[in-house]
Amino acid sequence: MKDLESKEKCTFYEPIKRNKMDFFRQELDFGDPKQKVLKEDCQLFSTLFISCQSRECDLQEFFRHENQSFPAALSDSGKLHTCQKSQLAAIFEDLVTLPDTEPKADGIIIDGSALINSLPPRTSKTFDEYAALDVLPTIQVYSSKYKRTDILFDVYRKASLKAETRLRRGLGARCRVTDNGKVPRNWRSFLRENDNKTELFNFLADKIVRMHTPNTVIVTKEEDTELGLEKLWIAFGQGRNLRWIPIHELSLSVGPEKTRGILFFHAFTGCDVVSAFREKGKKSAWQTWDVCTEASDVFMKLSKYPPTVEDGDLQVLEKFVITMYDRSSTAAGIDDARLDMFARKQKPYEAIPPTRAALIQHAKHAAYQAGCIWGQATVCQMETKSPADWGWTKQGDLWQIFWTVLPPIAQSCQQLTKCGCKTECSGRCKCYRFGLPCTALCNCKCAD
Ligand SMILES: [Zn+2]
Ligand SMILES: [Zn+2]
Repeated sequence: MKDLESKEKCTFYEPIKRNKMDFFRQELDFGDPKQKVLKEDCQLFSTLFISCQSRECDLQEFFRHENQSFPAALSDSGKLHTCQKSQLAAIFEDLVTLPDTEPKADGIIIDGSALINSLPPRTSKTFDEYAALDVLPTIQVYSSKYKRTDILFDVYRKASLKAETRLRRGLGARCRVTDNGKVPRNWRSFLRENDNKTELFNFLADKIVRMHTPNTVIVTKEEDTELGLEKLWIAFGQGRNLRWIPIHELSLSVGPEKTRGILFFHAFTGCDVVSAFREKGKKSAWQTWDVCTEASDVFMKLSKYPPTVEDGDLQVLEKFVITMYDRSSTAAGIDDARLDMFARKQKPYEAIPPTRAALIQHAKHAAYQAGCIWGQATVCQMETKSPADWGWTKQGDLWQIFWTVLPPIAQSCQQLTKCGCKTECSGRCKCYRFGLPCTALCNCKCAD
């Protein structure tokens, strides 16, 4: 497409029934100011699409590219597009019977970060008091109830892929954690700062280790624990919403394939470090898996360490995503599906799937998180793989998402040339030089 003459012939489409007015008639809800960029994105795409039709232009090539350097289906202005992760828990809860009372168990594993979040200082004035009055008594209770209590504290590194997600939550003020240090009034804001959390977790871990407890208490800082388990429950939610999800029953209910493929499924459909598909929540993805059972093999493969994303896997993932967006689609590839959904089915631009090129990067992101990270969760010494090989690039000490190897449409397509002529379009006019008629994209008067 860069060089039309070098091509024998392009695939031309009859101008598709969608016209300029359609785009302005569309009532899209962009009330949220954050959506403004997306709106502009959609309008630009629509305009490009129109210009593409008034000139001889390969629409199939056009749909192989994203509108921007990031895919609209997976990104919010170049940042991660997030979804409600807890939807997955809601799906699972429908598949099993939840007990009304707490199930009997020998051991408990506590997410230290969640515990501290739910335990703001009550009357404590200093961190020493906070440990003594709020945290240690809570752990005492667990330890008298369970034979073994594991407390897991996250460790926060700047170069972590989660850094972006955490950054979005906003930075709180830095506050030193010492015995006599005053506990901050705003607990949430204090916990937003990673350095505060790291210091607090280390501080508490030291106190917990020195505590006298009825049964075993194990504090873990970043290493993983491996347990041989007969039954596994996850306590989910807080207070009145607290419920116990029987994982052992759940895995029986969904079957071995989904159990083994769930890690990749979860990452691929959106988690803390991998984007979600715009307007496609966990629920529609889960329903897609029910009809697109051939995806199970790939999901299982990419949930294990070490994952490898091969061409065949990508074809399956393409099919899965196409099905998720349009059950009735017969398109062979996702780029054709984009064209079909946008042009013939008249879907708005933000409601069509990403390009194949963007999907490849997305699959790598998900395979990294699922296979390389979660897939090694029960391994004592994890083998580390660099995110650089899995669709991230390092800028400074932060990892940034790499979205696609293909340039945005406007950069790659000569047919999208526009001019800004004030007088006649001739001589130095770019459109004129390429032998292209002016379009609505031009600032000149020719197209009026
Ligand atoms: Zn011109
Ligand atoms: Zn022009």
